[in-house]
Amino acid sequence: MAEISHVGVIGAGQMGGGIAQVLAVAGVKVHMLDVNTEAVNRGLETIKKSLAKFVEKKKLSPEQQQAALGNLATGTDYDALSSAKMVIEAATENLEIKNAIFARLDKVCAQDAILATNTSSISITMLAGKIKARAPRFIGMHFMNPVPLMELVEIIRGLDTSDETYAATMALSKRAGKTPVACNDYPGFVSNRILMPMINEAVFALMEGVADKESIDSIMKLGMNHPMGPLTLADLIGLDTCLAIMEVLHRDLGDTKYRPCPLLRKYVAAGHLGRKSGQGFYKYGS
Ligand code: NAD
Repeated sequence: MAEISHVGVIGAGQMGGGIAQVLAVAGVKVHMLDVNTEAVNRGLETIKKSLAKFVEKKKLSPEQQQAALGNLATGTDYDALSSAKMVIEAATENLEIKNAIFARLDKVCAQDAILATNTSSISITMLAGKIKARAPRFIGMHFMNPVPLMELVEIIRGLDTSDETYAATMALSKRAGKTPVACNDYPGFVSNRILMPMINEAVFALMEGVADKESIDSIMKLGMNHPMGPLTLADLIGLDTCLAIMEVLHRDLGDTKYRPCPLLRKYVAAGHLGRKSGQGFYKYGS
């Protein structure tokens, strides 16, 4: 398969924006879409700030910064994706939203285009099954947060993902400066099958008063050598995303050990989603 030169990204949130950024820096033409212009512009602003930081730290030249911005187009119109060789979906972690997006992409994208999802937990095979004819060209491409800094991309093959799709996705990940590692399609894959129960348990520990939030985070940082504590990490990921992942693990693995902590549900219900809403377990900004 020829090198992928034009990629669509659906969702301009923290993940979609990051994915669009690393691809644009790598010289790929990127078209980033979201539900409305406001969301798209917010995503674009975040990318501009991140690129400026890379220039400040001399990890990117001003010429590379300009070239990356030149590779980046944004909007809300799916028709712009008719010539994309690949589309990476990075919208909210919700099965209905993702199914609706792929149904639209199925109509507008070329038959040979690859459709990828950045889902944290939802079955790749299940998403592909809704647009069956495309299942060989459907794959999971799970970037880590924050995308411009994190090395891993977890690559998940659905039951019918073709070798050609897998090879092209591995190649694009490497071109974006990442290290792809493959795994099979089970709920939460490897990363969130292991990470998210730990975060959920930290929330249980907080709810039960085992320790306060700072102590829980300090114990895991200093004692386990984690770069940040589980509650700080949950705030970075987004508490809504954490809850959605736990719900998938609980439902699809059918084991009560994956039940989401009631305190996590309470924070999400209150709109305390972590960094992105200004407040989660901790408060952010002014
Ligand atoms: P986010 O809340 O920051 O952004 C989600 C974006 O999707 C929003 O801008 C929203 O407007 C947009 N969106 C919602 N419905 C849409 C639609 N129909 N069409 C287009 N855009 C739509 O969330 P995020 O953290 O960027 O997560 C996005 C995906 O990446 C989720 O599937 C999540 O599980 C996954 N993911 C998240 C992390 C993390 O640490 N946050 C890590 C890896 C993967």
